[in-house]
Amino acid sequence: MSKFLSTRFQSLNAYVPGEQPSGAEYDYIKLNTNESPYPPPPEVIAAAGGDEIKKLNLYPNPDGSRLIKRLAEYYAVKPENVIIGNGSDELLAFAFLAFCDGGRGVVFPDITYGFYPVYAELFGIPCTRIPLKDDFSVNPADYSDIGKNIVIANPNAPTGVALPLSDIETIARSNPDYIVLVDEAYVDFGAESAIPLTQTYDNLLVMHTYSKSRSLAGARMAYAIGPAPLIGDMNKMKYSFNPYNVNRLTQLMGEAALCEPADEYYKENRREIVATRAYTQTKLLELGFSMTDSKANFLFAKHTKIGGCELYAALREKGILVRHWSKPRISDYLRITIGTKEQMDALIAAVADILRP
Ligand code: PMP
Repeated sequence: MSKFLSTRFQSLNAYVPGEQPSGAEYDYIKLNTNESPYPPPPEVIAAAGGDEIKKLNLYPNPDGSRLIKRLAEYYAVKPENVIIGNGSDELLAFAFLAFCDGGRGVVFPDITYGFYPVYAELFGIPCTRIPLKDDFSVNPADYSDIGKNIVIANPNAPTGVALPLSDIETIARSNPDYIVLVDEAYVDFGAESAIPLTQTYDNLLVMHTYSKSRSLAGARMAYAIGPAPLIGDMNKMKYSFNPYNVNRLTQLMGEAALCEPADEYYKENRREIVATRAYTQTKLLELGFSMTDSKANFLFAKHTKIGGCELYAALREKGILVRHWSKPRISDYLRITIGTKEQMDALIAAVADILRP
């Protein structure tokens, strides 16, 4: 820390992303940051190729209007219901900035996406953490008429546990004067989206990302869908912070990703990932693991014979990266991204080897 850092940030705990190894010496099987194991489809790659790269001397369209129009068609909403962002991390920042002033604060579960408390701290927003139940599910009654803005990842991360849409609706209905932000980064792997409810509830915002089910984590693309006034408020943040937030190539890829045959390719990949998740779950249960009922592209699992930290390190030794947090309630668990069947077979074999007496 330099002596110049603003005093208000001196105790800030920045977000720590999962390891992103680079270079040939790091030939890991990467199951640690919930990326898709499949590359983008050819049409998406082509959209950013050729002459488009030569146009990088020009700024992107700050409104992202073509991509927004396409997203609006895809989800049967109006363009004014959509904003695009440089990953959902950026859109989360816009939402925290726009809606969570000191008086209104923000609440989220005690175990959830680690960026929420970081943004709260960065922006000086008082935050309250509501403990998940013992089975890591959200108790909707805990959020009833709570008098604060609410952020819920659905399915939650890193647990993978999903909340039924009826519970999201109950939470939105009982907090009409506060924002309910539903972060649906993993919704495509088996949960129900709250996007249709944004037509009914003027306090409901839904966020999606291209980083998981659309194989574009490296392009940084996400969108939020919600009532036009909320999207307008978020745009106010965007135009006060980084108007050209989504680059030219990403906007083009984002559009191509919503067309056929790319869309069908992604749907097929999701079916494959869900099938591989079930397969991996069965194999890990046979090896003595217990785990949550994940509806995401990862499993959240623990073993009675070996601690999370130890298993993480042993897998790393064998060239497999997974995610572990030394945090209360979850330090025995590992979050394991679902990769290809071959990658999961390698994980299962490595785990069996580690557990062998
Ligand atoms: N929300 C959740 C719940 C996540 O797990 C992630 C991925 N780390 C994000 C948002 C951010 O995704 P991205 O910025 O890549 O869109």
